[in-house]
Amino acid sequence: MLNLSSPSTSEPRHVKVLILGSGPAGLSAALYAARAELAPVVLTGLELGGQAALTYTIENYPGFPEGVGGAQLGELFQKQAERFGAQVEFDTAQSVDLSRRPFKVTTDNATFLADSLIVATGARPIHLEVPGENLLTGLGISYCATCDGAFFKDRKVIVVGGGDSALEEGLFLTRYASSVTIVHRRDSLRAGPVLQTRAKSNPKIKFIWNTVVTEIVGTDKVEAVRLKNVRTGETSSFPTEGVFIFIGHTPNTQLFQGQLDMDKRGYIQVDALARTNVPGVYAAGEAADPTFRQVVTSAGMGAAAAMQVTKFLEQEESKDAHAEGQKS
Ligand SMILES: Cc1cc2nc3c(=O)[nH]c(=O)nc-3n(C[C@H](O)[C@H](O)[C@H](O)COP(=O)(O)OP(=O)(O)OC[C@H]3O[C@@H](n4cnc5c(N)ncnc54)[C@H](O)[C@@H]3O)c2cc1C
Repeated sequence: MLNLSSPSTSEPRHVKVLILGSGPAGLSAALYAARAELAPVVLTGLELGGQAALTYTIENYPGFPEGVGGAQLGELFQKQAERFGAQVEFDTAQSVDLSRRPFKVTTDNATFLADSLIVATGARPIHLEVPGENLLTGLGISYCATCDGAFFKDRKVIVVGGGDSALEEGLFLTRYASSVTIVHRRDSLRAGPVLQTRAKSNPKIKFIWNTVVTEIVGTDKVEAVRLKNVRTGETSSFPTEGVFIFIGHTPNTQLFQGQLDMDKRGYIQVDALARTNVPGVYAAGEAADPTFRQVVTSAGMGAAAAMQVTKFLEQEESKDAHAEGQKS
């Protein structure tokens, strides 16, 4: 069940654990924190279930030999966390003050004072922003070869991009696809030399240079892309059944700029125990992971963060009890 939090005019709400994000990381953290009887509150943000809910079928999350719907998996995560007392609220954090505990988090509907915070705000793949892209995402358009490559066995696919991930994912797709055409807007690749050599020597990989995709065409599945040569202005149609877009990823971490340490791309830096630079603030999933970016890895990071939060709060409580004991 989804709750709406109370309006912002009310008193700040004190919670032991506040979790930002309802993707695999946030909901797994909620399950673990709830089972530790910490009554976590999860703020969903705009995407209940996170990116995983955007995809039709997930075939690589363990425990579902036949695959599971992305949205369905999110619902199952949510139900399981709620069963142990997690409260999932349709609300979005707008600002945070991490300068002292409890941390102040202002949302669309409320102000929270949180003894600990788990940041699980995820990331988003950068989109091409061309006609057809929204309509056909999950129907032949993908932002993840590991997730969707197997659906394109013996099919002809294109990859958009020219960096390391475009080539890595393109090479991965050659396991399944009959051909992989890499469409790149420049005449040379940004990817490292080893990847370039591997891609250029792979007989299944072809390149279309100096070219952008201007439209993805199809009604209920991808049928073709419209291409434009940026040098000559010439346009053409290229039949394909799959479009894999790898032009970058952006973590949803702007809210924490200047308060949490991040790498230059904006991924939150955590240590092996999911700790950020602020004691009591933990980060999990794609907000802190530029590398693995999977449901199973994000869920694992969420669980780990909640286990650490549990320890942190226990230690803080015993410090407080000790201080009280000294006073009396
Ligand atoms: C189309 C697609 C298909 C995919 N298919 C697969 C697959 O088959 N298998 C697989 O393993 N992986 C797949 N992935 C990757 C997988 O979905 C992600 O790795 C995973 O969802 C990351 O989980 P996360 O919890 O870290 O973040 P996300 O899933 O990105 O969730 C982030 C959450 O944070 C919330 N949020 C953001 N900002 C705020 C805020 N200010 N306040 C509160 N909440 C906020 C969002 O609403 C969302 O709920 C796919 C990704 C995409 C885009």
